[in-house]
Amino acid sequence: MLTDYHLHLRPDDVGEADAYFTEENVDRYLAAASEHGIGEIGVSEHVYRFREALEVWRHPFWESQARDDLGEYCAFVRTTPLRLGLEMDFVPGREDAIANLLDPHDFDYVVGSIHFLGDDGALDDSRYDVWEGSDGADALWGRYFQWLAELVRSGLYDVLAHPDLIKIWGEGRPAPERDPRHYYEPVVEAIAEAEIAVEVSTAGLRKPVGELYPSRAFAEMCVDAGAAFSLSSDAHAPDQVGYGYERALEFMRELGIERVAVFEQRERRLEPLG
Ligand SMILES: [Zn+2]
Ligand SMILES: [Zn+2]
Repeated sequence: MLTDYHLHLRPDDVGEADAYFTEENVDRYLAAASEHGIGEIGVSEHVYRFREALEVWRHPFWESQARDDLGEYCAFVRTTPLRLGLEMDFVPGREDAIANLLDPHDFDYVVGSIHFLGDDGALDDSRYDVWEGSDGADALWGRYFQWLAELVRSGLYDVLAHPDLIKIWGEGRPAPERDPRHYYEPVVEAIAEAEIAVEVSTAGLRKPVGELYPSRAFAEMCVDAGAAFSLSSDAHAPDQVGYGYERALEFMRELGIERVAVFEQRERRLEPLG
């Protein structure tokens, strides 16, 4: 079994729902999946594109993006063969608001992400760069991975998305002086005690860092902790579905990962990978 669960039906920032949440567009994603031998795909739109997200957080970027209706999105996806997911940003202290947003909908899975370290800025968007005025790589890495551990422990999520997104800029931002494994440690401890799948994401291959999320060292620690893994491209267009999967499969096999997480109605099972 191959999956691609972390998908977006439109590019970031642009696109009216009416233009992209269509049968024709979904067919393009399904065709791309079948070309890559991917048996099951699902869509996980960014929560901040829905008005309901403003009940969780009111960052100016979210306010500029929150136009669509979450219920309409769910109803549309249920008319297609896609699994129904959501990419739900974790906002520390807003766990109850997140649960209230998720509760009314029958998602197959919820993908947990951290794109913003609160009002300090974004990890992956230079318009709100968290590195500007930051107190250095070690402090930022420490905080990012502590927040990820909180995300995992919240129990609100099925999948931990792009687990080391902070490396996205590669050489373009400072690297921590400490061994990165020091920063992975609290997340891995949380993963060991939780029911969350760690996402192997090929999105990093398309970004300045040019490597998979998570790093090999992080993935090895997750394997040792007994974690389950999911597999996704984080595609924002049909031609990115299954992107870089040869690399991801080789990576997973080298690490001894033989099964992949499959979700339905927020129940997880593990299927043989490949
Ligand atoms: Zn993301
Ligand atoms: Zn995404």
